[in-house]
Amino acid sequence: MANIAIVGAGQAGLFLGFGLLEDGHEVTLFSDQTSEGILNGRLPSGMGLFEDAVKKEAALGLPNWEDGMTRGEGAILELINPDGGVGLHIAPPVPRPHRGVDQRLKNSRWMRELERRGAAVRVVPLATPEDLDKHTAGHDLVVVATGKGSLSSLFARDPQRSPFDRPQRHIIGLLLKNFRPDLRSGTIRILPRMGEVIITPFYSREQLKGRFLLIEGIPGGPLDQFPRELSGHELLKACQQTIRALIPWQLEDLKEAELNSEQCWLRGSLTPTVRQPVGRLASGKVVLGLGDAVMLHDPLAAQGGNNATHMADFYRGRIREHAGRPFTAEWMQRTFEDFWRDHGQYAMGVTAGLLMPPAPHQQAVLVSAHHVPAMATALIDGLYDPRALFPWFVDPAVTPGFLESRGVPPALMDQLAPLLKRSARA
Ligand SMILES: Cc1cc2nc3c(=O)[nH]c(=O)nc-3n(C[C@H](O)[C@H](O)[C@H](O)COP(=O)(O)OP(=O)(O)OC[C@H]3O[C@@H](n4cnc5c(N)ncnc54)[C@H](O)[C@@H]3O)c2cc1C
Repeated sequence: MANIAIVGAGQAGLFLGFGLLEDGHEVTLFSDQTSEGILNGRLPSGMGLFEDAVKKEAALGLPNWEDGMTRGEGAILELINPDGGVGLHIAPPVPRPHRGVDQRLKNSRWMRELERRGAAVRVVPLATPEDLDKHTAGHDLVVVATGKGSLSSLFARDPQRSPFDRPQRHIIGLLLKNFRPDLRSGTIRILPRMGEVIITPFYSREQLKGRFLLIEGIPGGPLDQFPRELSGHELLKACQQTIRALIPWQLEDLKEAELNSEQCWLRGSLTPTVRQPVGRLASGKVVLGLGDAVMLHDPLAAQGGNNATHMADFYRGRIREHAGRPFTAEWMQRTFEDFWRDHGQYAMGVTAGLLMPPAPHQQAVLVSAHHVPAMATALIDGLYDPRALFPWFVDPAVTPGFLESRGVPPALMDQLAPLLKRSARA
């Protein structure tokens, strides 16, 4: 069995730690914060996990707040017209579960649980590659799962796989109470050329069944006009005013909403980035990147945390198969490449695809999903498992055959033909 260091107590690092302990490895977790520090910190994200990742957590017997929380049921996509009305409403008839738990609550509890199950937990901010080198000497394998923090610069950006070189959205996230606790589905409302307004059920640090409101504004557009200096409460007011102007009926749900606490909001931007998985330290030691540290997503398609969970699970399997042999740079590269081929490329593809205006054949898919329940299911399934969208959503040559196979009636196919042909010609 191996002696493995994991740096970073986030979704990726902690999830991997539990799996490695179960396989009998010695695990040391390095965190830059105590579990109390994590619990009492600012809201880091609004991560919701889909069914497959939730099942993987359950298989490890991890605390999950299932009893206390409203389980998320289903995802709905709506295209908003310029007058604020709903142009397309895409809702699969059978909603699939998802779960959003405040990462401060989850990670702080998981960190204590990891220690209880036998990991050594060391609270040391490994701020530089030199610190990393010094503290992890003697480990057979070092996995860096420090998210988008500065250590990710250990891993060179891969320009071929990185879909953008700048942020595509300016993001505001607000964790709210008094906001339709009966709502169980997550809703993505697309406002063409402006951005998106997303609402998901969320179990908060304060143990409230809250809602996470995510505003994804295209830079410079109407969803990106909030002054920098606003407090969280002021930002909520400003968002309410903007939503009143753009989607007036949505304000009904929002007008009583309040921030859970002053720490329950965030704003910023992320450039979706894929990095090389192997980092080299001054001593010559190689380290393996995991999660956001090597695959950073914009949150629009809700792929980052799901992808991090699947990547950690994949690494766990490869470590299990490889134990007893040295964890070389070649092994690390191969492990990441295989994950990229099986899952990662699709997760990044869905993130990139949602951030860009839909191509004509994708507009045809959206229209068909509004009318045909089986197409709504096929489309939304692609968020739950991004592999399900390929190739039919990206390759206009196969889109018509897929639509027909899902029962899109001939009359609708005729209406969609100009859009389908336009993409095929391009
Ligand atoms: C607003 C928003 C909404 C989102 N919504 C979703 C969603 O719905 N679904 C989804 O799947 N994903 C979502 N994401 C993305 C998701 O939160 C991330 O992909 C996920 O948290 C990545 O996990 P990670 O463990 O790689 O990194 P992180 O969660 O960032 O964890 C990294 C950890 O490492 C620690 N650390 C950093 N530097 C050091 C250091 N030098 N030494 C020691 N420790 C260090 C950090 O403190 C942190 O605890 C969202 C993100 C945002 C911002």
